[in-house]
Amino acid sequence: MLKDNLQAVQDNISKACQKAGRDVSEVTLIAVSKTKPLSDLEEILDCGVLEFGENKVQELCDKEERIKSPVHWHMIGHLQTNKVKYIVDKVTLIHSVDSVKLAKQISKEAEKKNVDVNILIEVNVAQEESKFGITTEETLALIREVATLPRVHIKGLMTIAPFVSDPEDNRMVFRTLKQLSVHIDAEHIENVSMEVLSMGMTNDYMVAIEEGATMVRVGTGIFGARNYNI
Ligand SMILES: *Cc1c(COP(=O)(O)O)cnc(C)c1O
Repeated sequence: MLKDNLQAVQDNISKACQKAGRDVSEVTLIAVSKTKPLSDLEEILDCGVLEFGENKVQELCDKEERIKSPVHWHMIGHLQTNKVKYIVDKVTLIHSVDSVKLAKQISKEAEKKNVDVNILIEVNVAQEESKFGITTEETLALIREVATLPRVHIKGLMTIAPFVSDPEDNRMVFRTLKQLSVHIDAEHIENVSMEVLSMGMTNDYMVAIEEGATMVRVGTGIFGARNYNI
């Protein structure tokens, strides 16, 4: 059953790529497995998906320890500086860096553990008060500062778009993030790449792909609705 969900999502990704004249290889699907049991992850892993997203440090570490096959973990949730040390050597990419303070902590822990850490800068494009992330206006200055830190490498931008009933309502959010990444790329800052644009969730990933997403983070669409009471 999860297999069928995954297939449907992958078909939609292909369709969106086709519509936008993009190659499917340009878009990576992150299966967002938060709150879901290991057995669900394993079912999706069996289908050849290697990229998994979690939003809590504890849960990511638990799953990382228990899963037998190697998985690429993506930290997509808000990260507290005091928890950085638990994940720097376990994650492929941290999507949610939104302050110099957090980036400095990642750099410090990465140096200690002798690892390199790839990060994205989280931008609150829609300026929702409830969301983390910096404003579009602050992004370039923050990137210039973070770029100088050892062992930390900026690979692009991430945004969480508002929850809307019509995904078309988020098109401008995605377009703005893409434009911002083009603008930053043109600055040619050392140690900064804009190859990744992490945007689009179950509700709106097709629109995000049309607007240039290179990573989409899909939870519900693959694993079904989440139950936070268990
Ligand atoms: C939970 C979550 C997702 C996945 O959301 P769905 O709507 O279930 O696809 C994507 N990104 C982030 C940052 C999340 O926290």
